[in-house]
Amino acid sequence: MPGVTVDKNHCKGCELCVKACPQGILSMSRKLSVRGYYYAEVHDSSRCIGCRICAITCPDVAIEVHTHGTTYSLFEY
Ligand code: SF4
Ligand code: SF4
Repeated sequence: MPGVTVDKNHCKGCELCVKACPQGILSMSRKLSVRGYYYAEVHDSSRCIGCRICAITCPDVAIEVHTHGTTYSLFEY
């Protein structure tokens, strides 16, 4: 099963990944990060298809996707 990791301390709360996810499984937290932003989080990881669109979309390289034994982050594929 793919896994998605959001680095909440690099997230600036722009919500681009939330809008981009074709599965609609990303949402914004109700808590603030140490930088004072609401951050993205995965709320139903079992439905993730490992498409990496969230990682590609994130302008702050705050998302990593782990699928098929490989970890993908922006510019590393
Ligand atoms: S890898 Fe694809 S399905 Fe999974 S959270 Fe990211 S955009 Fe959504
Ligand atoms: S696209 Fe990146 S910076 Fe924007 S909300 Fe998602 S994880 Fe945070």
